[in-house]
Amino acid sequence: MRKFLIAGNWKMNGTIDETKTLLSGLLAGSYDDTKADMLVCPPYTSLETASNMLQDSKIAVGGQDMSVHQKGAYTAEISATMLLTVGASFVILGHSERRQYHAESDQLVNAKAKAAIDAILTPIICVGETLDQREAGQTEQIIGMQIDGTLEGFSADMIKKSVIAYEPVWAIGTGKTATPEMAQDVHKFIRERVAGIDKDAAESVQILYGGSVKPDNAKDLLSQPDIDGALVGGAALKADDFLKIINAV
Ligand code: PEP
Repeated sequence: MRKFLIAGNWKMNGTIDETKTLLSGLLAGSYDDTKADMLVCPPYTSLETASNMLQDSKIAVGGQDMSVHQKGAYTAEISATMLLTVGASFVILGHSERRQYHAESDQLVNAKAKAAIDAILTPIICVGETLDQREAGQTEQIIGMQIDGTLEGFSADMIKKSVIAYEPVWAIGTGKTATPEMAQDVHKFIRERVAGIDKDAAESVQILYGGSVKPDNAKDLLSQPDIDGALVGGAALKADDFLKIINAV
């Protein structure tokens, strides 16, 4: 039985003061942690504050990206070890904004995911098609390529130590959401693709949906059999909304 994971990607939002306010709101709320885990991914500069505030809670902390390198002359980069030292246990990799603005490839995401697993961080590996690709009927072809590329060389054990997020690019930050049926179709496709590597791992890996998840659509999305949680952007910046989403599981 897969547990739900509700992850908040704060993107470039959250000064230290804003982080404290948002997390105070989350800590004041409640949710059933036997059904769902909560994860927040603030900007690097707020990770330590977040970890300190959340240390006695069940809420986990993650980074939004990391370097493929362990250390050295890579200006502005952050390593897996650095994330660990500020209390992160997850890291989002291959988000469409990283792919779009920083030309990240499946190959790079694959190498980063391997480095994350080596460091005992759980990678959340993002895949998703653009609107043009969906309208051209290429969704499965694109997602299949992204899954094959980002999981290249993965053993069953490595898949079990990872999370996959399906985020249709056209649904991110646009207010347009995939219908529960559209999302379920792609999640099922991803699970079948992963089963090509290992059936057990495909059954146990959590596949999150991301793309304008809000309190009013969360229940329908999260009730689909292959949707195991959500990667939430905008609605993760409001404690009430994020709590409503986790309470929709
Ligand atoms: C995201 O950026 O991962 C995301 C899903 O954003 P939003 O929920 O705002 O669409």
